[in-house]
Amino acid sequence: MFARAMLLSFVGSLAACTPTQPLSGPPRAEQYQDASSANPRGEGQRLVTACAGRNGWGDAAPPARIFGNSYYVGTCGISVILITSDEGHILIDGAVESAAPAILANIRALGFNPRDIRIIVGSHEHADHMGGFAALKAATGAQIWVREVARPVLETGQTAADDPQVGTLPHMTPVAVHAIVQDGVPVRIGENAITLTPHATPGHTSGGTSWTWQSCEGPNCAQLAYIDSLTAPSRDGYRFTDHPERVAPYRATFTALRTVPCDILLTPHPEVSNLFARLAGDAPLIDRDACRALVERSRSALEARLAREAAP
Ligand SMILES: [Zn+2]
Repeated sequence: MFARAMLLSFVGSLAACTPTQPLSGPPRAEQYQDASSANPRGEGQRLVTACAGRNGWGDAAPPARIFGNSYYVGTCGISVILITSDEGHILIDGAVESAAPAILANIRALGFNPRDIRIIVGSHEHADHMGGFAALKAATGAQIWVREVARPVLETGQTAADDPQVGTLPHMTPVAVHAIVQDGVPVRIGENAITLTPHATPGHTSGGTSWTWQSCEGPNCAQLAYIDSLTAPSRDGYRFTDHPERVAPYRATFTALRTVPCDILLTPHPEVSNLFARLAGDAPLIDRDACRALVERSRSALEARLAREAAP
């Protein structure tokens, strides 16, 4: 009850906000090209160089601005996204526990104070993305917000018993959850400083959540989409064909993701969206087809697995 009451107190009176930057229809692609030519994306090149041949969950990487007030502060193998405002910041994901010092150092290197992070949210309740939550909460004083189904995993540190990967993933240091994220109800900082919309995208885990928000560089605004893992791995011997209740959420998620706003695709594993090369300017950062393409690749991979399982 307490967590729910706190959630409502944060968002209840702030439901009718407008973006901080005026918008007059979708920005044109030429505007983005103008914006990126003014920014040589040298930080992205540093990421590419530092992570060449290194993609471990805890391999430290330099930070890089993605677009506007959105920054990459994760490791070579795991994304952590910082969204900043004058009224406090939000962090999406926390990587593994051992990465917490590097994440905090990245935030400081960008000129931000980790103690100004108000809320930490995440993609899905596995140790490679939320294992760092306890350490990051202790260092920042931020609140942890997740969907209800992920709460027991965070608070016990144990992978869910019905997770196809249970037994193959490290445990997490337990951490208390402050508030529950509701599908489609934005998490906000201030009246309109940050408006971050959660999309329930279960499948890979039951608590899987994707996030969308708008960031602006001067007059140019983009819709950023942090799309949760859509892969279907499992422990040895597990058959998704024996668990239709775990297949249906993937299919619902693939359908739901068709309509999310998506100019800049981000993913919890940066290589899935070729993020570092895009930040370095070696591939388009803005690609409105990227979300749809990721969903179709993921749908095909799941259907291929189901077909293999069903083959005699
Ligand atoms: Zn995972």
